[in-house]
Amino acid sequence: MNLRIPGPTPCPDEVLQAGAAQMMNHRGPEFAQILRRVTDGLNWVYGTSADVLSFTTSGTGGLEVAVVNTLSPGDKVLSVSIGSFGDRFKSIAKTYGADVVSYALEWGEAADPAEVGRLLDADPAIKAVMVTHNETSTGTTNPLEAIAREVRRRDRLILVDAVSSMSSIPCPVERWDLDVVVSGSQKGWMVPPGLAFVSFSERAWAANAAAKMPRFYFDAAKTRDSLVKLQNPWTPAMSIYYSLDRAFELMRAEGLEGIFTRHEAIAKYTRDRVKSLGLRLVPVDERFASNTVTAVWWPEGVDGKGISKRAREEYGVVLGGGQGKLEGKIFRVGHLGFVSQADVESALDVVERLLEEAKTAV
Ligand SMILES: *Cc1c(COP(=O)(O)O)cnc(C)c1O
Repeated sequence: MNLRIPGPTPCPDEVLQAGAAQMMNHRGPEFAQILRRVTDGLNWVYGTSADVLSFTTSGTGGLEVAVVNTLSPGDKVLSVSIGSFGDRFKSIAKTYGADVVSYALEWGEAADPAEVGRLLDADPAIKAVMVTHNETSTGTTNPLEAIAREVRRRDRLILVDAVSSMSSIPCPVERWDLDVVVSGSQKGWMVPPGLAFVSFSERAWAANAAAKMPRFYFDAAKTRDSLVKLQNPWTPAMSIYYSLDRAFELMRAEGLEGIFTRHEAIAKYTRDRVKSLGLRLVPVDERFASNTVTAVWWPEGVDGKGISKRAREEYGVVLGGGQGKLEGKIFRVGHLGFVSQADVESALDVVERLLEEAKTAV
């Protein structure tokens, strides 16, 4: 199987085998060592000296952690959404009673940092900005560093969904001065689903002390206090920690720069190849095309769903589909985590062949 969806992503055999290890006491000294090493690894990738917290949940749970631990019902927040994951982040805030102001763009576009600044100037009551770093549904990466600068300049909080970017695309949280940053294990981390990672800045902890949204399982302060004892408040997905511990050995051997460069090169290869097939990218401005997932329009009149089905059944190539209003109209190629150019090359060979056959059949 060539699994080319943008998460869950394939894992190295040794990482899967590490996850098969026997259970141990999750409050004992052996697991404490693993939790320390894994947290050090997270801090390294996040570029932060404050311990990154980990939660047993998927990326969406991590987004909920960000919202309920920094805000109170009635708080005004600016949702910057460029696709379906931006919309999801916004829905979480609404569900918990935030007063959401919306900056929504056409799918395929990236947010304009200057517009974020204008919206914040227009409404001093806005307390926090919620933004997706890499919008997986449209294969578009927001100019996060510039957006963060606008938010910082006006002294609001910035909550970031970096689920499909952190560990694959640079997102240094201290250097960019980001307040809460969320990622998820099944995207660029080369491990199975089950853990979400969330960093908190000093400002975010100050907001946490006043935040009134209800929370129990996802209480970040409880999680931080347990981490001091090298424990989780609840029983964690231990097997995923075993795997991640091994994955960090591989990541450290490659180095962060090496990992970023590999993603950049494979993404460029993917875009060039797709364009050489005469296909159009979903991101309107290629400068914002993602280095972890490439979203592509099926040509007019082509049965994209049929091609995806044949790719899977006849060639073992699993492509990502379109979400929401893009369903049936686009396909997505995930190229994040444990991926080489050859993986993408063989997937696109199949797309090329099936497109040719669809054309000659007409
Ligand atoms: C995958 C993803 C999520 C979270 O999805 P889960 O299925 O809950 O892990 C959130 N945001 C983005 C940008 C994602 O790619």
